[in-house]
Amino acid sequence: VRGLLPGSALSVTQLEVRAEGLAERFTALTGRGPAGVWAAPGRVNLIGEHTDYNEGFVLPVALDRATLAAVAPRRNDAAHCWSTNPTSPQAVSTTLDAAGPGGPTGWSAYVLGVLWALMKEGVQLPGFDVLVDTNVPLGAGLSSSAALECAITLAATDLAGATLDRSRLAQVARRAENEVVGAPTGVMDQMAAMHGGRDAAVFLDCRSLVVRRVPLELTTAGLTLVIINTGVAHSLVDGQYADRRAACEQAARLLDVPALRDATPAMVERARNELGELLWRRSRHVVSEDERVLDVVRLLESGRAGEIGSLLDASHASLRDDFEVSCEELDVAVEAATSAGAFGARMTGGGFGGSAVALVPVDEVSAVRDAVGAAYRERHFAAPEVFEVVASDGARRIR
Ligand code: ADP
Ligand code: MG
Repeated sequence: VRGLLPGSALSVTQLEVRAEGLAERFTALTGRGPAGVWAAPGRVNLIGEHTDYNEGFVLPVALDRATLAAVAPRRNDAAHCWSTNPTSPQAVSTTLDAAGPGGPTGWSAYVLGVLWALMKEGVQLPGFDVLVDTNVPLGAGLSSSAALECAITLAATDLAGATLDRSRLAQVARRAENEVVGAPTGVMDQMAAMHGGRDAAVFLDCRSLVVRRVPLELTTAGLTLVIINTGVAHSLVDGQYADRRAACEQAARLLDVPALRDATPAMVERARNELGELLWRRSRHVVSEDERVLDVVRLLESGRAGEIGSLLDASHASLRDDFEVSCEELDVAVEAATSAGAFGARMTGGGFGGSAVALVPVDEVSAVRDAVGAAYRERHFAAPEVFEVVASDGARRIR
């Protein structure tokens, strides 16, 4: 199975065209049409990095790049999964009772994990034929994983005639990723994929899980979001992620708060000696990042999107210097983008590779693209992928 329509689906119409192509492909594979086609977007985190597991704030944006799933129920409990992604094993066949933790591996674990998690919610499911197609780059920090999970979650729920609210669906998808895929992630990505909206960011309180859409009106301000996919994934990610989580927990204990969410910059300063240099810097990132998220939300809610740039820059500096999760490719991308006219830029996602996000005046997009390309060439880095994104709707049925 080959990719259907490369490039981003910028409009609903393009999504519908992709869905139609996918339905045809599905019919060719299975000999019958799908019961429907569902879509769920990737996301970029605008600000709020490494705050989720500290029970703080995040502000992701659902993208105009999405994973589509053409799905049909079966009369038995077999599950057949296909992907158009050229580097994935294309066909995986199994049964629903093999879907739980310790069962499926590889990409089908995302699909089967969701089916298992839904059954754990008490939703009765038949077997399924599933064909997925995405234009979210895989492993770029734009959460192709949550896009896949959420498309399947919505499809299976709809077909089962079950009604779960969107936050519940996000939890189901997260459970699949945590317990079946085995990735210890928070729920931000799935919440973004479920609650995203056109020209909106998704403000999430990771403690209460209360979600609020915040207007992200960039077009009227002559601005756009640009993603720079570094194309690198440094192998230290897992160990470093666990290390940062442990450091934050230790700092919270020393500060005598349930989580760093409950600490203030003043508390962290006062405890500098007790924390020691390293935990002091780690904590300073988290508490200052929470404040930056709230500041960005305030600016966006008062129609001042053009003023969030310096907060994005400050977030990057804090992640680079205090939390130490950036890498040269990200730093070079951010530096080149801001020098070429971006209002602000930062690494996004866990760090050590993946993508950066920049807030760029529409007229400066090509200057930013050229500057980042030139800076990468100069350092003999592989060419980055640079593209504009538009805040888009969350998971939905397309046909
Ligand atoms: P990210 O979420 O940042 O893209 P992850 O490592 O969390 O990175 O998820 C990427 C993985 O998700 C891929 O390696 C693959 O297993 C799976 N995946 C996502 N979308 C697809 C797809 N359309 N086809 C096959 N596998 C997919
Ligand atoms: Mg992921």
